[in-house]
Amino acid sequence: MGDIFVIAEHRNGEIRDITFEMLQKAGALAKDLSCNVTAVLLAGPSEVVEVFADKLSKWADRVLVFEDERLKTYDSDLYTGILAALVQEQQPFLTLVGHTSWGLDYAPTLAVRTGHPLSTDATDILLEDGRPQVIRQMYGGKLFSRVSFDPSEGYMVTVRPGAFQVETAGDKTGTVVSQNLPEALQSPRREFLEFEETAAGDVDITQADLLVSVGRGVGEADNIATVQELADLLGGTLSCSRPVVDKNWLPKYHQVGTSGKSVKPKVYLALGISGAFQHVAGITGADCVIAVNKDKKAPIFRVADYGIADDLFTVVEALKAKAKSG
Ligand SMILES: Cc1cc2nc3c(=O)[nH]c(=O)nc-3n(C[C@H](O)[C@H](O)[C@H](O)COP(=O)(O)OP(=O)(O)OC[C@H]3O[C@@H](n4cnc5c(N)ncnc54)[C@H](O)[C@@H]3O)c2cc1C
Repeated sequence: MGDIFVIAEHRNGEIRDITFEMLQKAGALAKDLSCNVTAVLLAGPSEVVEVFADKLSKWADRVLVFEDERLKTYDSDLYTGILAALVQEQQPFLTLVGHTSWGLDYAPTLAVRTGHPLSTDATDILLEDGRPQVIRQMYGGKLFSRVSFDPSEGYMVTVRPGAFQVETAGDKTGTVVSQNLPEALQSPRREFLEFEETAAGDVDITQADLLVSVGRGVGEADNIATVQELADLLGGTLSCSRPVVDKNWLPKYHQVGTSGKSVKPKVYLALGISGAFQHVAGITGADCVIAVNKDKKAPIFRVADYGIADDLFTVVEALKAKAKSG
């Protein structure tokens, strides 16, 4: 059986979390299939490549490295050219790609060029009769579907960031193998100018251990300040549901959910959030959900580990007093 390939993703000198999330899942699948995990790294220059390859080797049995100055930044022509040749030559059983702006760009072309069928936006990958089955959401997260593949030489899946938790540190000592770029590689038709961070603001809710999240129940924009104060006192980060963004009470980068961000805090404190499926789909990675809602029948209580059926302001003031008293 071929390996499980994980295509590494990096940006601004860092390997992105999605790479390790995929490697973690690939490791578990490889155990069941008795096959190897191969990380594939396209990067440059050499100093960066060395550091990246070393990190990846702790998670993979092999790291295949394509090093070139042009691979310092992402280019879909180069990625599809290199990866299509590699996949055709090595015929991996499964190729995992991040369901990110990169993956969304090159995975469909790669699937067409290699003939490996593609399922996108996986929140889980199972094995059935020796073939992968993909769990993915439909209708904006209302339904979970299970996607099967027709038998094929290999399969391809894009993985939703945050779908798999990285619970352990990598303990492998994979070999790093330098690869030559294919000779007939098409010259890039685009030129990278500069990397401009999207409005990430001063917070990154995807990296926070404690999220204090507000919903429409907060009532009005002016009330956000008291919740922000609680978040600051607890050392947490403020996040919110979509209506809070729609009403311009907070910028979009605070939004949790299917059209916002998937988060994976240790504690998610939901204040005045009803628990619509589009919101809850974004918090499946949270270790502990604590919900405060004055409606004791609110759906958020179905997914909460702890629930308080009360006015959120009463709870916020009590928590603030407790935090201040030390
Ligand atoms: C395509 C699509 C994508 C979407 N994507 C997202 C998304 O990414 N993220 C997202 O969040 N939503 C998303 N939504 C919207 C989603 O369907 C819900 O409308 C939204 O999550 C509801 O937000 P909410 O819980 O803050 O508000 P509401 O549903 O209005 O709930 C407010 C809650 O606050 C409680 N409450 C009111 N006052 C108080 C008080 N004083 N104290 C305590 N509790 C109080 C109420 O009992 C109620 O349960 C999407 C919808 C669509 C159609």
